Amino acid sequence: MTEIATTTRQSDLAEIRRQVESEKARLDHELGQLSGMAANGAGREAPFHEHPTEHAGEMEEHERLQAIRENLQQMYEQCEDALGRLERGEYGLCRSCSKEIAIERLRALPYATRCVPCKEAKRD
Ligand SMILES: [Zn+2]
Repeated sequence: MTEIATTTRQSDLAEIRRQVESEKARLDHELGQLSGMAANGAGREAPFHEHPTEHAGEMEEHERLQAIRENLQQMYEQCEDALGRLERGEYGLCRSCSKEIAIERLRALPYATRCVPCKEAKRD
């Protein structure tokens, strides 16, 4: 390996981009499945003899699905945000101090928008 540092970083970023893109596709798929599940649940007719506690269970299920969906949606938005920053060449730069975020940090947390020192100092 005789590549200079910037080239290495570029190829690292390209790899991270592929990861984020496949993660986004996975989230998109899961969100689609989840909407399907929610639609089926809503369209299901309640049995006439339905017990109140069963109904409560369904409410919890609905809330659980809702929480999962919100979580997936949030991750999906983080993916879109990261891809947008990759597109604009802003990716991997700290939002607070504009320095490059260490590639190790980006590998561990592709959606990181701040470098470790800024994160720890809670700088905005
Ligand atoms: Zn910083």
